[in-house]
Amino acid sequence: MSHPPVENVVIIGTGCAGLTAAVYAARASLGPLVIEGPLPGGQLTTTSEVENFPGFPEGVDGFHLMDSLRKQAARFGTRFEQALVQSVDFASFPRRLVCNDRTILAKTVIIATGASPRMTGIPGEKEHYGGKGVTTCATCDGAFYRKMEVAVIGGGDSAAEEALFLTRFASKVHFVHRRETLRASKIMADRAMSNPKIQMVWDSVPIEVVGGNGGSVTGLKIRNVKTGAESLLPVKGVFVAIGHVPNSAPFASALHVDANGYFVPEHASQVRTKVPGVYVAGDCADHVYRQAVTAAGMGCQAAIEAERWLAEHGG
Ligand code: NAP
Repeated sequence: MSHPPVENVVIIGTGCAGLTAAVYAARASLGPLVIEGPLPGGQLTTTSEVENFPGFPEGVDGFHLMDSLRKQAARFGTRFEQALVQSVDFASFPRRLVCNDRTILAKTVIIATGASPRMTGIPGEKEHYGGKGVTTCATCDGAFYRKMEVAVIGGGDSAAEEALFLTRFASKVHFVHRRETLRASKIMADRAMSNPKIQMVWDSVPIEVVGGNGGSVTGLKIRNVKTGAESLLPVKGVFVAIGHVPNSAPFASALHVDANGYFVPEHASQVRTKVPGVYVAGDCADHVYRQAVTAAGMGCQAAIEAERWLAEHGG
């Protein structure tokens, strides 16, 4: 059996982090191989308009932005292959990526697998997700709900942050939490609860996203877990903020991850891991900023690190 070639750089993921890493690695003549997973283009492809990516004064469609970034990476010689990395062997060199249908060998690896927003799974949620009234990103989509009522589902720091951000646009924010105390830090909880535009809806779980004839959201049906009473919040937007799940599982035993599964980089770096030549970038390693532009920045850092590592160790 012939051995697979040893790649200079393998980048896992095609979101902002992975594709930016590909642009930099390809322009450095490293001929990167990008492994494309189940959501080509990453989370941005699930949002319609991106208004905060630098350089687009009129905004840019998320799908279009990722398509352009992909073409930019391809222009300099990036190769793309579809595969699902199932496990890794970072103790051996070259590094081994065990995929569903083959094993890939690499001198350096950039893991940019992103994070998936946790969803509630209630009826109507999936149907209205992505520009149709259900979203997981207030920073991305909040401005579309000017002078409208919206609901935020969750009780942690993310939900509090989303609710507070949304008060800039929405006429009223219904903050729906399944218990009667927030999980969020005291400072965030105090800020949210004292904001006159935020209405706390305690002890309540969402049970259905209700849509109108035009396909947009007209309300969120909720149930009080103590009384069993059901009611309808008259909202046009539903912001789900019940946490994210970083896509780190296949790598978690080989690298440092925190209690929530996010990669923890080495001290004084955002992207270096404990394994030389293996880097992390984007939302799989960032639960704080989670922006397209910060993910792109980490992808850039990871590619420059990989290039330097190869220059030192023989590329
Ligand atoms: P989180 O802390 O895990 O909170 C998730 C919230 O969603 C919890 O309140 C939970 O309710 C609720 N929830 C979970 N599943 C649910 C479901 N199926 N239906 C309804 N509610 C559900 O997640 P996070 O808020 O994304 O924060 C993640 C980490 O990032 C935390 O460590 C957080 O402190 C940090 N973070 C910090 C900041 C900041 O400092 N500004 C901002 C964002 C995130 P229960 O409380 O009942 O479990």
